[in-house]
Amino acid sequence: MQYWNNYTETLPREKLENIEFNYFKNLFSYAKSHSKLYQEKLKGIEPGDIKTKEDIKKVPFTYKEELRKWQEDVSPFPYGGILGVNIEEVSTFRQTSGTTGRPVYVPETYESWQWRIESWCHILWMAGFRPRHRVFLPFGYNVYVAFWEAHYAAEKLGCEVIPGGALDTKGRVNKIIELKANALAGTPTYLLNIAQEAKSMGIDPKSFGIERALGAGEPLPEATRKRIENIYGCKMFDHIGSTETCGFAGMCEAQNGLHIIEPFFIVEMLDRETLSKEVEEGEHGVIVITPLGRRSFPVIRFNTNDVAIKGPSTCDCGRTSRKMMEIVGRVDDISKVRGVLFSPKTVEQLIRSEFPEIIEFELVITREDIMDQITLRLELDPSIGHNDAEAIAARLRERHKIKTNLSCKTKVEPAGALPRFDLKAKRFKDMRGKH
Ligand SMILES: [Zn+2]
Repeated sequence: MQYWNNYTETLPREKLENIEFNYFKNLFSYAKSHSKLYQEKLKGIEPGDIKTKEDIKKVPFTYKEELRKWQEDVSPFPYGGILGVNIEEVSTFRQTSGTTGRPVYVPETYESWQWRIESWCHILWMAGFRPRHRVFLPFGYNVYVAFWEAHYAAEKLGCEVIPGGALDTKGRVNKIIELKANALAGTPTYLLNIAQEAKSMGIDPKSFGIERALGAGEPLPEATRKRIENIYGCKMFDHIGSTETCGFAGMCEAQNGLHIIEPFFIVEMLDRETLSKEVEEGEHGVIVITPLGRRSFPVIRFNTNDVAIKGPSTCDCGRTSRKMMEIVGRVDDISKVRGVLFSPKTVEQLIRSEFPEIIEFELVITREDIMDQITLRLELDPSIGHNDAEAIAARLRERHKIKTNLSCKTKVEPAGALPRFDLKAKRFKDMRGKH
């Protein structure tokens, strides 16, 4: 079986888009009559007003902030006005991580949860996960979605799944070896931590025999992806998703961009200035997503504030779904420093590709008088001596200047000074205006 769904994954564009448009119309009518949020939000637009695909652009965006607001009144408890079904139908609770504020509580019915799993099956199959794989998930999944989705989807594909919660990193290294796990899914940062831990135990991560790995929970710059492939001797794939929308795009064997999981989602990529028109292939667009198959928590035109480059709808793998190329970062993260557009992802890419000695870093922007200042706090491999550390920092400052057109300060920190993350890494701090 080449594709997870041989029919939908190779449908001609026009047919695919027609299916999606019909799903959209159904979702629109459903949300308007079943969710308090959309009863209010869609006042003045009737289902009959959505006659062509272009009419989708008439429907207002939904923002994360609104979902929070509609949960301030928690009736029915605890989901409030975002709920799209009878509370008795809800079969499982999940929530967002709350890194940017109060978490959003996410209701799933059995049916909507199965829809999420099916979408994830596309992601895993595309990344080459197969029944022969014994998949180790090195996390306690808690109330967050990503690793539960990976768990159930891997099971549905026929893989054998090992839940790796309630262990420290050393315990996880031992479990991978003990059970001969040959596939992993995890945050890129944590997969690097596992490799680092193995090395400190005198074990080469290549000896694990990992064949496939999937990144989740944080951005995966190309350099980090290749680095993990080299360290483990595996093939590493990316995907993108969020709790509100589910995983909506995954990487195929061509390892060049992410395929949108169609017809599960309509993903629009809109011009950053006007947010009204679709960008052309090769241009930067803000990602706006409509998950098309969930009644429990209908979400229409969710504006992610993420910016990516719009890719083609052709690929060596034969899939006809639209691709998104590089995810450039959050609209909010791409900021101006001393008048120059600056993306922290560029710095991460630089460090991961050219500075293997740097094991952890933090990027801080401050304002001194009227001047923006970039400081890179660095933690180096403990085997590196003081003089070498200074030379590495100097080389980084020089490369940073070339890559970003901005100079920076560096500060070498003692081992263990910087925080470690297993889920969402927060390596970028913009302290301007915060005293
Ligand atoms: Zn492909």
